[in-house]
Amino acid sequence: MGQREYEAWLKAVPARVERSRRRRRTIEARREGGAIVVRVPAHLTRAQEREAVTGLVAKVQAKEARRRPSAPALARRAAELGRRHFGLEDAGSLIGSIEWSDRQQHRWGSAQSLDGRILISSRLRGAPEWVLDYVLLHELAHLVRPGAGHGPAFRELLERYPRTARAEAFLDGAAWAEQRAAGAGGPA
Ligand SMILES: [Zn+2]
Repeated sequence: MGQREYEAWLKAVPARVERSRRRRRTIEARREGGAIVVRVPAHLTRAQEREAVTGLVAKVQAKEARRRPSAPALARRAAELGRRHFGLEDAGSLIGSIEWSDRQQHRWGSAQSLDGRILISSRLRGAPEWVLDYVLLHELAHLVRPGAGHGPAFRELLERYPRTARAEAFLDGAAWAEQRAAGAGGPA
């Protein structure tokens, strides 16, 4: 990649490069809001910078893609989980759509049994994979057992996922921490 191409690519990502005089050898990339910020030592040549930055940004993107799957990736994952844990040959046909939602502030997800629409709270982005898997299975279980609420038939199905109890404890803890951070009262 030439310098001009590189600069256009930085804009598209978007990524920002900061040259630091204090930094001698280490290069570091991390997500800061909408951009990936890469800090590099000031002495790098342009060619060295291009090579280091493109490699590191690709790594951050790959890691984020694993932890924040796209909507189609979520749907594929839910279908696969349904096969593995619920023995559903065609979980995909139950699932109308799966989307991230910014509006699920007090729930982790929801499922509409009428049209198979699943919403996953965007508060779960970056959550451990096994926790996200639990939420996908929870919502899928509502589609498999419509009308069962959270009753025994629903629990029986959901508990086939071996990490159900652990994931529920994780999410209770996360909800508690959120409430506390929001100053929602209750014992400190
Ligand atoms: Zn539920």
